[in-house]
Amino acid sequence: GKRVLHAKHYGVRREDIHSGALKVCDRLQEAGYEAYVVGGAVRDLMLGKSPKDFDVATSATPEQVRHVFNRSRIIGRRFRIVHVPFYERGGEEIIEVTTFRGAGEAPTDESGRILRDNVYGSLEDDALRRDFTVNALYYDPSREEILDFHHGVDDLEARRLVMIGDPGIRYREDPVRMLRAIRLSAKLGLDIAPPTRKPIAECAGLLQNIPSARLFDEMMKLLLSGRAWDCLMALKADGLHKYLFPVLDQLLKSPQTTAFLQKALANTDKRLAEDKPVSAGFLFAALLWHEVEAAWQKKQAAGEYAVPALMAAMNEVETSVEKRLAIPNRYGAAMKEIWLLQPRFEQRVGSRPFRLFEQQRFRAAYDFLALRGECGLVDKELVEWWTQFQYCDDDTRSAMIARVT
Ligand code: ATP
Ligand code: MG
Repeated sequence: GKRVLHAKHYGVRREDIHSGALKVCDRLQEAGYEAYVVGGAVRDLMLGKSPKDFDVATSATPEQVRHVFNRSRIIGRRFRIVHVPFYERGGEEIIEVTTFRGAGEAPTDESGRILRDNVYGSLEDDALRRDFTVNALYYDPSREEILDFHHGVDDLEARRLVMIGDPGIRYREDPVRMLRAIRLSAKLGLDIAPPTRKPIAECAGLLQNIPSARLFDEMMKLLLSGRAWDCLMALKADGLHKYLFPVLDQLLKSPQTTAFLQKALANTDKRLAEDKPVSAGFLFAALLWHEVEAAWQKKQAAGEYAVPALMAAMNEVETSVEKRLAIPNRYGAAMKEIWLLQPRFEQRVGSRPFRLFEQQRFRAAYDFLALRGECGLVDKELVEWWTQFQYCDDDTRSAMIARVT
């Protein structure tokens, strides 16, 4: 049964909606189509949180949307959507517009995974194709109403994350929904309803079929959810980490590596809470460091020099990780520089410390060294030396170098 609610009574006001999203809805409605703000934005506003992005769902086809907004572009193949750009405060902001998806008909592979989803349908069909009930709330800005087809409002008030339809079938259609369940539950403080949770352990293996670029995107969302550690622990509880981050089992066996990971993630969560930028390169450097270090030490024990051994270890780890997560180069490069600078902190002779200090990534590499030090993964004296070195004049620095034996 569909429910129509006064949006204002639930904390959703027109002025809280991104002006671009309002324009998109208004102009599509003027052109005779249905258009609603949908998904995370409505859910987050009802929870009193500020939405990350505003998505619009409409009865207009992608071509019809293109026709209404001449600067817009159609993107995606598996799932075609339209990006409508708005230029505000100097930057480009994009409103994603999706056409109502139809029920059934979508072609699937032998595991039940939906390969393409470009069959269009009615508003009711669209609500049925969304993942969780709290994500299937539609806000009509002109009538200031919320349409609720699957008791999303009740579930939100009860702090429950409930899959629409048969959870097992929905996870088979798109295994990434398992990761979304974990992330949204941690991020929003919702309990995963038992029937929604139950099939996850048995469907976990289906993540193997997901392209590594999409898994990387989901991993990023988990890590940047503001509850990164909770997300990793929840992944582990259901065995999902095996497909995203199998070394987690290894890492949790030692208190030092556990502390290292936990501190790196707590630091990320804290920065996000303070609206500070987070470096994905630093994050992945921390997540994969244990693997790199283990391979590095093995090679050094076999007689290789420190720096070439580290480079070889990095390459090995990169190759093995690539199969699961396609880490884009822009992050991969920062990650590798942070690693490569680590052995250079040990070389405190002549002009080397000065040259290291001038490196563009010195700060990130030093923060990484400090994190290692805090967890007993590197000598604390070395970290203290570098802390001092940064904050004194060149004569004092030369004296510091002369004192190192
Ligand atoms: P957030 O943006 O805060 O991460 P969100 O729920 O808005 O969370 P998006 O990825 O922006 O997530 O997706 C927007 C909406 O599209 C969702 O609220 C949901 O209704 C629908 N959706 C997204 N991914 C899926 C999926 N894999 N299966 C079904 N519906 C989905
Ligand atoms: Mg969203």
